[in-house]
Amino acid sequence: MKTEGIVISSIDYKESSKIVNLYTPNGKISVNAKGALNPKKGMLGFITTGNVVSFVTTDTKTKTMTEYQLEYSVYNLNQSIEKLKAFAVIIDIIKEISDDVNHEKCYEFIKKILLSLKDNDTKKVLSVFLIKMLYVFGIAPNLKSCVKCNNMNNLVSFNTYLGGALCNNCSCLDYDRLNLWNEYYYDKKDIGKYSDTDFNKLLDEISTYYSYHMGINLKI
Ligand SMILES: [Zn+2]
Repeated sequence: MKTEGIVISSIDYKESSKIVNLYTPNGKISVNAKGALNPKKGMLGFITTGNVVSFVTTDTKTKTMTEYQLEYSVYNLNQSIEKLKAFAVIIDIIKEISDDVNHEKCYEFIKKILLSLKDNDTKKVLSVFLIKMLYVFGIAPNLKSCVKCNNMNNLVSFNTYLGGALCNNCSCLDYDRLNLWNEYYYDKKDIGKYSDTDFNKLLDEISTYYSYHMGINLKI
């Protein structure tokens, strides 16, 4: 079986092997990398968290990797602590993905995010990623109607705790926040083209959103 995946973690197994956990277009899988701890086997690329690899496994119950190719190395990010931290947040989030989502779509999106980390503003990439993932976690913001009174017109602001838009009867005007959440949640343009904003403030809101609606504390 040939597939592609993002390495999300690995643990030592028996004397010299590792069980590698990957996120793939078919969901999360565990693969035995036999002899991975032996440097001569050249498996470092397959066991390094964050790498994107294509690989072949046996069809047996315990899948054993028989060959792999490094598609993208996380070492591309080594020049920046900030990017490595963002990257760790992304990996933590992948671990939270449940089994019943559309993994193919989700995988492509996450791969695109990982690959865009190198050449784009870190906080912008992280914001796009975290806001769009709210859909995958089933806690998408309601941006179509007022979360207090269901009014579908005159939406003027966004509230993190209520998880969506507010109308002009329920809130004072804050179009900028609402527009920003709309853009980051719905738009599908290249990462670099999303509007700039005060990303510390936005990431603060996003962190609050995750902790309040999902009980996850992002290490931002
Ligand atoms: Zn309202």
